[in-house]
Amino acid sequence: MEPNGPSNAQGLSSSVDLILQQRKDATATAVPPPSGDGSLWSQLTSNPLFTAGFGLAGLGAGLGLAQKGVRHGAALIRRRMLVDVEISIKDDSYPWFLNWMTLYQQAQMGSAQSAASRSGFMERVLQKFTPGMRHLSIQTQKIEHANGAIHAHFALVPGPGKHVLRYKNAFVFVNRMRESKSQDLQTGRPWETITLTTLYAHRHIFEDLFREAHAYAAKSHEGKTSIYNSWGTEWRQFGQPRRKRPLDSVILDEGVKERVVEDVKDFISSAKWYHERGIPYRRGYLLYGPPGTGKSSFIQALAGELDYDIAILNLSERGLTDDRLNHLLTIVPNRTLVLLEDVDAAFANRRLQSDADGYRGANVTFSGLLNALDGVASAEERIIFLTTNHVERLDEALVRPGRVDMTVRLGEVTRYQVGHLWDRFYGEIDESGTHRQAFIDRLQELGLIEDENGSKPDRSKTTSTAALQGLFLYNKGNMEGAIAMAEALTQTLHSE
Ligand code: ADP
Repeated sequence: MEPNGPSNAQGLSSSVDLILQQRKDATATAVPPPSGDGSLWSQLTSNPLFTAGFGLAGLGAGLGLAQKGVRHGAALIRRRMLVDVEISIKDDSYPWFLNWMTLYQQAQMGSAQSAASRSGFMERVLQKFTPGMRHLSIQTQKIEHANGAIHAHFALVPGPGKHVLRYKNAFVFVNRMRESKSQDLQTGRPWETITLTTLYAHRHIFEDLFREAHAYAAKSHEGKTSIYNSWGTEWRQFGQPRRKRPLDSVILDEGVKERVVEDVKDFISSAKWYHERGIPYRRGYLLYGPPGTGKSSFIQALAGELDYDIAILNLSERGLTDDRLNHLLTIVPNRTLVLLEDVDAAFANRRLQSDADGYRGANVTFSGLLNALDGVASAEERIIFLTTNHVERLDEALVRPGRVDMTVRLGEVTRYQVGHLWDRFYGEIDESGTHRQAFIDRLQELGLIEDENGSKPDRSKTTSTAALQGLFLYNKGNMEGAIAMAEALTQTLHSE
């Protein structure tokens, strides 16, 4: 500690020396000289500045070690005692888990409030910090229909952040993490994961938890049909699954429904036959006819009958390109009927294209539609329904096995349909059937349906099942009213 530079040196070093010298003098006066043996060690230990510094350094090192130890310990505990399960946003169980957790937390909150007085320490702490879920996120599903109407469905689910839940006596830490930097390139949605952590000893609860979440998802789907719409380049479920539409609520002309249902069922049970012969396992149906004849309703009811879901795509949708259509058809969810509405839109584009000398708009083209239907043969089954109100605009190239295997016309209302639809609305109050007969006679008189022998003087005079349904709805429980208003049906004439 003695300055060893030359005392007569000028400049900075000498002034530093001076200060050090002064400080030494000051300590020398404040503290009595050490009574040690004069060795270097005793000189050092007797120097309070040195000992304080040494003490601090020691303390720092000790703390550092302890911190390291704690970190190691925590990592060890994590490794040995905790178990994590990670679910990515792409996994089917992701929405199941979020929905299940929302309901589970709500149920827990209800029972926690009633049992607040007798809850234990840990519960009280948890209730204080995580009273149910504080971070909620809203899941909105929006769909724009061809007529411009927008429908939306909202659901509240646990938002990004940390949550704690108690499940079967185990505490489960739930961390929903959203990556701000990475996102799904196809949909633009941020990448997300949920990590569930619990004690290793409680690891078996995950199995129960996921089984419950899945059972809940399956139950809420029981007796229901899910509708998928396209969202960018993926299919997304639209709203909650809807109640299945009973097949007998759709009245088609005699035998039409049965013919299609039988064909689809036969196809579904023929997977082996197709695979053995190396034929792509797919079937296409074309339903055509004027609007309001039950094309969409029938497909919906058929899906319910088969216990399938429906993926709907309207080909006149703006921004639907050939590539998108092709991609969407290759990623149809399992057990799902595909409904391609307004297929004539692709043919309208073909005309536009040739007019505009090769111009490719952001819409599906005729060749794009054929390519998508032919697609890469996948092992999965594919059932496609094409619908159009303008069959005359279609090209016969569409009606080939594998593209369209069966063509069904849903046309003007027939005598058979009127009778059956009447029974669905008034069957219970019209026991004798006299009103039914009066209504049928009236429609025949108006020239809207054929006579008993099947002859119809004016084929262009027709009405639709939708219009008939509208009349019956308006006259709910009022048979005379329906008969009196029958003439209104002549104003709903339309041409194919
Ligand atoms: P499309 O797809 O042919 O335009 P929809 O299936 O959308 O017709 O029918 C429109 C409305 O009319 C629906 O409410 C449906 O219930 C009713 N409807 C139309 N046709 C029928 C039918 N054949 N049987 C029962 N209801 C029908």
